[in-house]
Amino acid sequence: MRAVWRRDSIVRSFLPGGARPMDLELSEEQQRFRESVGGFAERVLRKGALERAHCDAYPHDVARQMAAQGLFGIAFPESVGGQGGTLMDAVLAIEAVAAACPRSADVIQAGNFGPIRVLAEYASESQRERFLKLLLAGEAVISVGMSEPEAGSAVTDLKTTATPDGDGFRINGTKVFTTHGPYADFILAYVRFGEGVEGIGSVIVEKGAEGFRVGKPTKFLSGDEWAQLYFEDVYVDADHVLLGPGGFKKQISGFNVERLGNSARSLALGRYAYDAARAYAKERTQFGRPICEFQGIQWKFAEMKMQLEAAALLLYRAASRADGGIPSAQDTAIAKAFCNRVGFEAASEALQVMGGAGYSQDALIEYCFRRTRGWMIAGGSVEILKNRIAEGVFARRFPQRP
Ligand SMILES: Cc1cc2nc3c(=O)[nH]c(=O)nc-3n(C[C@H](O)[C@H](O)[C@H](O)COP(=O)(O)OP(=O)(O)OC[C@H]3O[C@@H](n4cnc5c(N)ncnc54)[C@H](O)[C@@H]3O)c2cc1C
Repeated sequence: MRAVWRRDSIVRSFLPGGARPMDLELSEEQQRFRESVGGFAERVLRKGALERAHCDAYPHDVARQMAAQGLFGIAFPESVGGQGGTLMDAVLAIEAVAAACPRSADVIQAGNFGPIRVLAEYASESQRERFLKLLLAGEAVISVGMSEPEAGSAVTDLKTTATPDGDGFRINGTKVFTTHGPYADFILAYVRFGEGVEGIGSVIVEKGAEGFRVGKPTKFLSGDEWAQLYFEDVYVDADHVLLGPGGFKKQISGFNVERLGNSARSLALGRYAYDAARAYAKERTQFGRPICEFQGIQWKFAEMKMQLEAAALLLYRAASRADGGIPSAQDTAIAKAFCNRVGFEAASEALQVMGGAGYSQDALIEYCFRRTRGWMIAGGSVEILKNRIAEGVFARRFPQRP
C-alpha cells in the first residue's frame, strides 16, 4: 500500500494538473476522416475489388476518382496543390481504402507516399506545374528508379550516370524492379553526377524520351508487372533535374514517407485477411461446430490481434511524430520492419484458417498473402531496416562494406 501511495504522489508532483492519460486514440476528426474515406471506398471500390486485384493494368479510373475526392496529396501543403492534412491522415486513408479494396490502396500510395512526395518537397515551380499537377489530378503515373542490377540494398553503388551536355545532361544506365515501370509517364531516376554518395542526385525522365527504352515486362509474385528500364544517351534539360549532386540524403529522407505507405499497406492487407478469416471462422462448421470454437484456431486469432494492434501503434507513432511531414529514419525503420512482418504473418495465418477457400483466387486472401510478402523486400528489406535499428540501439554506424 505504502509503495503505491508513494508512486502516486510522485506522479502527481510531475503532473500538477492531474494525471493525463497518454493519448493512444484517434481524435474525433481523424475518426470522421477515416469513416468518410471508408464510406467512399465502400460505395465506389468494394464492387470490383477482386477483378482489380487480378488485373494487370493500373487502375487509372480509381486514381481519377480519388483525385477528385481530394485523396491525393493529402499531407502536402496547399501551396503545392495538396490538401494541407497530415501524414497520419494519409495513413488512415490507406487503411480505409484497403479495407474495401486492397489493390486500390496502391493508388493511395501512388498519390501520396511515393515519388510524388519527393516531387512535392523538392520540385521547382515549373516542375510542379509540369509534373506534379498531372500526378495530383490522377492523370499521370510516376515511378522511382533506384535499383539497378548491381545496386539493390547497396543503392549508393548505382551506376546510372548524368553527364553534362550543353545546358542539360545525358543519362546512361539501367534500372530494375521499378514499380509501375512498364506504363509510367515519368521516371524519377536516381543518377550519378559524380563520385561517391555526394555525387548522387535525381532526374525526371519522360515516357517517349529519345533513348529511353522499356524492356520486356515480367511479373512479381504479387502479379505486379515490372520491366527493366534502359537509358541510352537520354537527354534531359536542367528543368528535368530534381536534385543535383548532394541530393541523395534529401531523397532518402523523402523516401521514408514511401516506406510508411508501404508499412501502412502491409498492415492494412494483414487486417483485411484477418477480418475475412474471422468472419469465416464464425460461419465455417467442421466436426459439427464452428471452427472458431477450436482452441487451435482461437490462438491464431489471439496472436494476430496482438501483433496487428502493436504494429498499428508503431506505425501511428512514426506518422504522428513526422516532422514537417517527413518521419524519422529510426521510427520508420521500426514501423516498417514490424508492419511488414506482421502484415505477412497475419495474411498467412488467415489463409491457413480459411483452408482451401483462403488459398483460392476466388477470395482476396491469397492476394494479401502474395502482396505483403513483397513489401518485406521492397523499399528497404527487413534485414536492411534491422541494420538501421541496430545503429540506433548502439548509437553508432555499422558500415556494411568490407
Ligand atoms: C514488390 C517490389 C517492388 C519494388 N519496387 C521498386 C521500385 O519501384 N523502384 C526501385 O528502384 N526498386 C524497387 N524494388 C527493388 C527493391 O528496392 C530491391 O529489391 C531491394 O532494395 C533489395 O535489393 P535486391 O533485390 O537487389 O536484393 P539484394 O540487395 O541483392 O539482397 C539480397 C538479400 O540479402 C540481404 N542483404 C543485403 N545486404 C544486407 C546487409 N548488409 N545485411 C543483411 N542482409 C543484407 C537482403 O535483405 C536480401 O534478403 C522493388 C522490389 C520489390 C520486391
